[in-house]
Amino acid sequence: MTQWVYSFGAGHNEGRAEMRDLLGGKGANLAEMAAIGLPVPPGFTITTAVCTEFYKNDRRYPEALAGQVRAALARVEQATGRTFGDRHKPLLVSVRSGARVSMPGMMDTVLNLGLNDATVEGLTNASGDARFAWDSYRRFIQMYGSVVLGVDHHRFEEIIEHVKLDEDATEDTALTAQDWHRVVAAYKDMIEEETKKPFPQDPEDQLWGAIGAVFGSWMNPRAITYRRLHDIPAEWGTAVNVQAMVFGNMGNDCATGVCFTRNPSTGENVFYGEFLVNAQGEDVVAGIRTPQPLSEAQAKPGETSMERALPAAYKELLHVRETLEKHYQDMQDIEFTVEKNKLYMLQTRSGKRTAAASLRIAVEMAQDGLIDEKEAVRRVNPASLDQLLHPTLDPKAARQVFAKGLPASPGAAVGAVVFSADEAESRAAKGEAVILVRIETSPEDIHGMHAARGILTTRGGMTSHAAVVARGMGRPCVAGAGGIAVDYGAQTLSAGGRMVRAGETITLDGASGEVFVGAMPMIEPQLSGDFAVLMGWADSHRRLKVRANAETPLDAETARKFGAEGIGLCRTEHMFFDPARIGAVRQMIMAHDEAGRRAALERLLPFQRQDFVALFRIMAGLPVTIRLLDPPLHEFLPHGAQEIAEVASALGQDVAAMERRVAELAEANPMLGHRGCRLGISYPEIYEMQARAIFEGALAVAEETGAAPVPEIMIPLVGTRRELEITRAQIERVAGEVFAAAGRTLTYSIGTMIELPRAALIADAIAESADFFSFGTNDLTQTTFGLSRDDAGKFLPHYVESGILPKDPFVSLDIEGVGALVRMATKKGRRVKPAIKLGICGEHGGDPASIAFCESVGLDYVSCSPYRVPVARLAAAQAALGAKGDRTA
Ligand code: ADP
Ligand code: MG
Ligand code: MG
Repeated sequence: MTQWVYSFGAGHNEGRAEMRDLLGGKGANLAEMAAIGLPVPPGFTITTAVCTEFYKNDRRYPEALAGQVRAALARVEQATGRTFGDRHKPLLVSVRSGARVSMPGMMDTVLNLGLNDATVEGLTNASGDARFAWDSYRRFIQMYGSVVLGVDHHRFEEIIEHVKLDEDATEDTALTAQDWHRVVAAYKDMIEEETKKPFPQDPEDQLWGAIGAVFGSWMNPRAITYRRLHDIPAEWGTAVNVQAMVFGNMGNDCATGVCFTRNPSTGENVFYGEFLVNAQGEDVVAGIRTPQPLSEAQAKPGETSMERALPAAYKELLHVRETLEKHYQDMQDIEFTVEKNKLYMLQTRSGKRTAAASLRIAVEMAQDGLIDEKEAVRRVNPASLDQLLHPTLDPKAARQVFAKGLPASPGAAVGAVVFSADEAESRAAKGEAVILVRIETSPEDIHGMHAARGILTTRGGMTSHAAVVARGMGRPCVAGAGGIAVDYGAQTLSAGGRMVRAGETITLDGASGEVFVGAMPMIEPQLSGDFAVLMGWADSHRRLKVRANAETPLDAETARKFGAEGIGLCRTEHMFFDPARIGAVRQMIMAHDEAGRRAALERLLPFQRQDFVALFRIMAGLPVTIRLLDPPLHEFLPHGAQEIAEVASALGQDVAAMERRVAELAEANPMLGHRGCRLGISYPEIYEMQARAIFEGALAVAEETGAAPVPEIMIPLVGTRRELEITRAQIERVAGEVFAAAGRTLTYSIGTMIELPRAALIADAIAESADFFSFGTNDLTQTTFGLSRDDAGKFLPHYVESGILPKDPFVSLDIEGVGALVRMATKKGRRVKPAIKLGICGEHGGDPASIAFCESVGLDYVSCSPYRVPVARLAAAQAALGAKGDRTA
């Protein structure tokens, strides 16, 4: 019989941390903590397999489930000496969701389940504290009412506010047992009115209602959005954890808290967290009362640390911190409760962290011997390095601070103020930089947080929703800027007498928590320290070389700064758009004969030679792959009457003749038209000029610097062997001429792009004439799918959302289809020419999943945009080490 339920705690642990796929992260780690002897209240986990069955069978549970739940519950009853539904010593439980990977705020927890009009009396008598018992009961009705019965939470808040007003109370803590009694009565009436049914009194009904709500929430829109943003498959399902309650709300020797074993913003090795005395569940993150710091060192004047308020429990918590880090060998995010000075652990997981923290923690843990170098390399999510490569505020700039909040997620962001997630999304879609300003954020805001450059909230702490989610997404965030008043109605925020309206520009500094009006100057990131150490380790473990796609000196310099080992793709056409040259380029295109073209090319030669000299100087002897002219001439045509008239007069032709020529050159389908090597074959003088510029430039730099450049000349859009042979012969002839004239020679190579399916299919024949292949996976994706990248926007997003395609094939290589061609061409090429050099130069060269594929087929290098070079270096190391990627992602 299938085991659907796994017990934990009280010496009976059926699960372990490795079982997270089945038990969910929360359940697996509760079992693990219990198994290593930490104080975990007993309970059980209903597996993710039940969730899958539930949705497969029209929302019905497996038959054996009810019996297994009953048996597991009996074990909890026995361990606690309480009985579910008993009017004297009632067992209360929490019902908690827990997927394989944590999905913050997506699923809702119900606490104090098992309370009803009879058991609340039992709890009163057993605890001797009526106020606590009725407070617990009202919390239960409130959570159950909103999570399970779907009653709007405002209806509950109204009732509490009403009672507070009556009692002249400002804080919930000022309310008495009688007050909570009244709240409970009003809640029950309100629920009956809203749902047309009395609040369920039978604990069994309550339990199954809550279990159903957790499974049901797997398919709520927020959860679906979160999964889509984080590539989490719907099939994974969630588990449900049912756990005996412990109470942080039984008085001043009780508390609840959340903490990180290290600082999740900076990675610094200090204990970091918040707690609240006499509180329950998510009071700490809800922002109702101000949470207090854990340690004395963290406490500011007026704050009372846990170290001071609850010294014994604090000491135990410190011990737990050490045990957990040693055991998991990673920074942990912990939830705990103290009941009558006794500490209970309610959750642990790998803590979400910023990229900077991830790096520092990995490096320091390796330096301290907690993990090894390879593990440190595996730990850091390559994509997250992006965050570190982003600008921060210039520290030298004069700072006129508008307001200050908590430094919740580092990096600086400039953008226009918007007050709603929807607006953030719609304006960002138009290319605008926006800052999302909210009093606080909730899971409904995720799409807007994703679209915004930065997030500012006026409420909530370092563990608030905004802070946690922003850190995960790598968005700069300032949270809890209490000095700012936000008025959604008037669409303004104000602080210190100054008002900012929607649409005005502000700057956030997520590292200091400061907010400025206007756009502040930024500086480039620092690439030293932990970053350099980790990249050094990565470099020593990778096999793939990493090059950059670069054509300007600035790109080339950036590429080298980020550690590129050469240029994998220099697109020469970009050099033709310069205003100083475009005239000559157009003159060449519009010319009617070879003599006309040669005259124009003669004018372009010195420019082009200078381009290569600049690149070769910067690359100082590293390989530089130069792709000869590729795009359809069509792209260089003059547009509109004015440009046509200008070109006509420059060429001394009349406008009508010019218009005819433009019409002649226009193509119906330019991407499949007169481009790539087809141009070089029709107009050999173009490639000749480019080859001459390359060789002359390379010789000049060899002479000047003594470091001979290594040009790799690449022919685009080859589909037949003859095309490559013809163009190759042209280039070799030019090389001979240039070398003869200079009296010196140079090592160079000639290869081809593989970007047409036909080229991949006959790669063995092509390899006879090629020194290297570079997989141009942008075009190869277009031509394999028969899909135009420029037109795919109308349907491709839908394909991805609805799962027709697992990912956008222009972002992450389609391994099944395009990858099969790459694999085949690699094999065929190497069969003919074992030493043939193989690389990839599409956008995919900077995508970690695609890089892992390149490693698996044994390419020699990947080439990507300069800012992705560090990402590629780390991803290449992880691919070589066979890493599964970031464990916290
Ligand atoms: P989330 O996934 O949103 O963090 P949890 O299931 O961890 O939700 O529950 C949120 C909080 O509820 C916990 O941090 C803890 O404070 C409280 N909680 C959950 N179960 C119990 C329990 N058995 N006893 C006391 N408090 C609990
Ligand atoms: Mg929560
Ligand atoms: Mg939790």
